[in-house]
Amino acid sequence: MRPVQMVDLKQQYLAMQAEIDEAIRRVLDSSVFIGGQSVEEFSQHLAAWTGSRYVIPCANGTDALQIALMALGLEPGDEVITPSFTYIATTEVVALLRLKPIFVDVDPRTFCMDANALERAITPKTRAIVPVHLYGQPAAMDEIMTLADRHGLYVVEDNAQAIGARYRFYDGTERQTGTMGTIGTTSFFPSKNLGCYGDGGAIFTQDASLADRMRMIANHGQRIRYYHDLVGCNSRLDAIQAAILDVKLRRLEGYIVSRRQAAAAYDEAFKTEDRILTPWVDPRGTHVYHQYTLQLEGVDRDELQRYLADRSIPTMIYYPVPAHRQRMFTQLGAGGEDLPVTDWLTGRVLSLPIHTEMDAELTERIATAVLDFIHKN
Ligand SMILES: *Cc1c(COP(=O)(O)O)cnc(C)c1O
Repeated sequence: MRPVQMVDLKQQYLAMQAEIDEAIRRVLDSSVFIGGQSVEEFSQHLAAWTGSRYVIPCANGTDALQIALMALGLEPGDEVITPSFTYIATTEVVALLRLKPIFVDVDPRTFCMDANALERAITPKTRAIVPVHLYGQPAAMDEIMTLADRHGLYVVEDNAQAIGARYRFYDGTERQTGTMGTIGTTSFFPSKNLGCYGDGGAIFTQDASLADRMRMIANHGQRIRYYHDLVGCNSRLDAIQAAILDVKLRRLEGYIVSRRQAAAAYDEAFKTEDRILTPWVDPRGTHVYHQYTLQLEGVDRDELQRYLADRSIPTMIYYPVPAHRQRMFTQLGAGGEDLPVTDWLTGRVLSLPIHTEMDAELTERIATAVLDFIHKN
């Protein structure tokens, strides 16, 4: 029997081994390990694939967020509104830059920023909104962009989990996540939907001067070598990672289809079980299922997790502690907001294995084990 993993990067690699090995060999041959043709080509291909005018590659998804916020010229103490129900990187960079994170609740159906909560959180000190397209589904960008326009706020989309997802606005225009706000960011961490074999990230914008500024910030604030106009950092996507990503980008559409097939199989298996709420998809968007996350009702989650682990089925809780309850923030006097939906979801979400190498046997084996536990309890 095939072992079950949250993500099966080995099988995925074996399915394209010759191409990946050849791409890496070409970089070794050229001995251009930083910058160069492979980074340039991948950036162009990614821009074309996402429909983004500018793509700035960088070292990881956390740097991408940091560089994006650095480029906006915010002042210490300026308020940045983010969900608390997200990976720590989204909120950490806000604090790192001495900006003030304002945590808002999420919509329990989409796990993404609640637009009503966002509206209530806007103050005269608010400068930016950082929505997260969590688990692979677009946030409510219609409402978010409308509020941002009305109040003159920047929008930085954290698209680390949703590359390739689409969203249709009320006026009929359709865009990919990461290309709708002022800036979008993504991560190529190996387990992400477009992952490399190390660390990597990218930044998206449609604005030429912001693109120029972010390119400089990612490169020690220089446009001309050794002439540093801005305080920046050192954040590069290396050539081997770019070459790998270029091979995988050609497969990304197929990867998304595989993930959707696995999600559809789970949806079908759980549809008559009242104690399991399967992911809801906002009809305005498409879901790329970075995670397949259940909400459990009246089920002992820890017991279920143990039961599955005993049967060699891994599961994860994304995330066990929301940002507003992290000591990182509470010791700064931030956090401590009352976010009932976030707290409630934290106690009842469970993510099942989902990846590009799933097949019907695997999803059935996992779903059957989940249902067996529920029917016994
Ligand atoms: C993975 C992730 C990041 C950070 O990306 P890294 O490449 O690990 O730095 C940021 N935000 C979200 C939502 C993520 O899932």
